[in-house]
Amino acid sequence: MKISVVGTGYVGLVTGVSLSHIGHYVTCIDIDETKVEKMRQGISPIYEPGLEELMKENIQAGRLFFTTSHQEGFRDVDVIYIAVGTPEKEDGSANLSYIEQAVRDIAANITKDIIVVTKSTVPVGTNHYIKELLISLVPKHINVEVVSNPEFLREGSSVYDTFHGDRIVIGADSEEAAKVIEEINKPFGIPIFKTDIKSAEMIKYASNAFLATKISFINEIANICEKLGADVESVARGMGMDKRIGSMFLNAGIGYGGSCFPKDTKALTQIAANLDHNFELLKAVIKVNNHQQRILIDKARERFGSLTGKRIALLGLAFKPNTDDMREAASIVISKELIAEGAKVVAYDPVAVENAKKVLPQEVIYTESIEDALENADMVFILTEWSQIKELDLNIYVQKMKQPIVFDGRNCYSINEVQQYPIEYHSIGRKPIY
Ligand code: NAD
Repeated sequence: MKISVVGTGYVGLVTGVSLSHIGHYVTCIDIDETKVEKMRQGISPIYEPGLEELMKENIQAGRLFFTTSHQEGFRDVDVIYIAVGTPEKEDGSANLSYIEQAVRDIAANITKDIIVVTKSTVPVGTNHYIKELLISLVPKHINVEVVSNPEFLREGSSVYDTFHGDRIVIGADSEEAAKVIEEINKPFGIPIFKTDIKSAEMIKYASNAFLATKISFINEIANICEKLGADVESVARGMGMDKRIGSMFLNAGIGYGGSCFPKDTKALTQIAANLDHNFELLKAVIKVNNHQQRILIDKARERFGSLTGKRIALLGLAFKPNTDDMREAASIVISKELIAEGAKVVAYDPVAVENAKKVLPQEVIYTESIEDALENADMVFILTEWSQIKELDLNIYVQKMKQPIVFDGRNCYSINEVQQYPIEYHSIGRKPIY
């Protein structure tokens, strides 16, 4: 099948590369010339394990192409995937201007019947709007079908997820169009769930809202566990053994971030509000998360009083491990608040530093190694559970820091392990160690 993918961010590039890997001829289009130039040379503009190798392999196999030209990219294709961003507007609703532009680009360049597949996360009703807009813009003899195919990959393991996902959701009003998209996806060997367009759009928001709820729920349990002297790790393990609950997404920490959960939860409360429905549960989830992102600062203030003049090391800046994505990372809120309070912030991340420099306060100092970040620090905040941090020899905290006081926002170490070192250790939902 000849396919083109509009937008080569985390979703578009992984989709394009994976579709070419299962045998389709794929042209990826992006308006960012620097990105396209890099990708043509087999260089991935984003950090995703395994992506670059797969890109190179399929470019060499002659199945994967990159261009900035919509005209060139849409030539002779049967199916066009839209994977442009849908960032949040000031009121929390989704900004659909990139989607609209992509639709206009499609309408201006196609010359034959087409199936447009929306991968981007869009509010319920958007795919019907896309179809109406396309029909109003293309010549009458061209038949247009629109399919909702929301994406569930996780950044940091997106290539793995694309080949091992739990389900592929196909939302279509036309059975024929659904069949074509089903055939395209069959080689992935993943269960396919077909439904109507609106339900498919809602599945994406409901899934993210549910996962965010699970995170805020366990974080609230963790906060209560701390006060009770219970251990949230044991509580989560005991809960997760119940199949009705499941063990995933029960890791207490400093909350969720990233490009999806924060914006999609807000967008869903907005979708509900537009229908005069007050989605109270989801609003509470968002509120709990906002509080949880700051919890290490509260703990440090309780311990030290003022943080002014303190040298604070931040370990991990990306919103989660194995990605360089800094969107809505807890490190943004935390570093801003620490700098505003007059602390000296020294930060380390194995891959996200270049992106971090664009969004963290300019006073933040970056180091090449964990050891350099810890040098002479009054305290350390662990913000991302990178393996480099989880596997660190705990003696390093003792050797490098002014005083080994660790505020671990991701419960990277077991209490038993930490107890063997002269470290003061504050984590989430577990008893502190002095
Ligand atoms: P992104 O911001 O990383 O990438 C979007 C890309 O689209 C950019 O490279 C941009 O230059 C390009 N673009 C914008 N307008 C264009 C146009 N008219 N023509 C060609 N290219 C254009 O976005 P992302 O993180 O990949 O997310 C894309 C969508 O997928 C969003 O709706 C998001 O909510 C959804 N999603 C993201 C994830 C994730 O983990 N990132 C997971 C599931 C779903």
